[in-house]
Amino acid sequence: MNILVTGGAGYIGSHTVRELINRNHRVVVLDNLSKGHRAAVKGVELIEGETADRDLLKKLFAKYDVEAVMHFAASSLVGESVRQPSGYYRNNVVNGLSLLDAIVESSVRYLVFSSTAAVYGEPREVPIPEEHPAVPTNPYGATKLALEGAMRWYEDAYGLRYASLRYFNAAGADPAGDIGEDHEPETHLIPLVLKTALGLMPCLEIFGSDYPTPDGTCVRDYIHVNDLADAHILALEAMAAGAPSKVYNLGNGSGYSVLDVVRAAEYVVGRPVKVSYAERRQGDPAVLVAGSDKIKGELNWRPRFAGLRDIIETAWLWHRGHPGGFRD
Ligand code: UDP
Repeated sequence: MNILVTGGAGYIGSHTVRELINRNHRVVVLDNLSKGHRAAVKGVELIEGETADRDLLKKLFAKYDVEAVMHFAASSLVGESVRQPSGYYRNNVVNGLSLLDAIVESSVRYLVFSSTAAVYGEPREVPIPEEHPAVPTNPYGATKLALEGAMRWYEDAYGLRYASLRYFNAAGADPAGDIGEDHEPETHLIPLVLKTALGLMPCLEIFGSDYPTPDGTCVRDYIHVNDLADAHILALEAMAAGAPSKVYNLGNGSGYSVLDVVRAAEYVVGRPVKVSYAERRQGDPAVLVAGSDKIKGELNWRPRFAGLRDIIETAWLWHRGHPGGFRD
């Protein structure tokens, strides 16, 4: 299939691009390189531009005969979204709508959308099924939910066919070790733990130790980035084979606390990681663990990296080989 990938030079986007190419799809990446890296998509057609640029999108759809869009380009930090909701609504909702409009005015048939576990807010049950009420506790989750809502109404009115994938915590790197997570500034737990292990940071700050969890630190469900990539492709291929629009959770179904992650990383790197305790980060729910039975049952999706240590090992290979990220 001919596929346009917005945000394809970013972390999850670039891993998905690689997997698409491995499976013989034709890919063009649209990325403004505000967070993405040219080096993450070496050898791939990369258009530097904005998802908000409707004319550009329409030209690209026509030029490359695009049949499907995977939409990764977005702002995605919980803490930042609480401080700057305006930027999040603009980038994720306003620019997202502009993309939906360009899609329904063109011959693009399918959309795979990067959604998030943050749409659920504070869970009433764990693991969280897709039917769980969606009451986000931060603007990041609210903006992703807003675009999901638009997609549903665009389907009714304009026939948009979509799969919305609610990721839990994306982690790890391609086992080849040449692409991985590189954010500036880095805010995610696993890269920060590994950077601390590499001596690039004096210590890891743990945000909150008084959550209602077994060790007082937040519990998350870490899912390997290549398993996410795999789910995108399965969802797209299912739509192309006639499946209706769907919303799926993507996680391993196991919860690990911040301290569990630190211990697993210490095991992988073979040395202690210094930690200190800080205030809770605004907008963080105590526990987020996925119920992913729906996609397993319907699309036969099976995460290949089920264990936290396996996931951290792939991240370690990337960070150890590229302590300065793509600059190295
Ligand atoms: N976290 C932490 N210290 C850090 C970064 C993250 O304690 O320096 C915690 C954070 O509060 C959350 C978990 O680690 O409970 C995962 O955070 P991350 O930013 O990696 O992903 P998110 O859950 O926001 O998608």
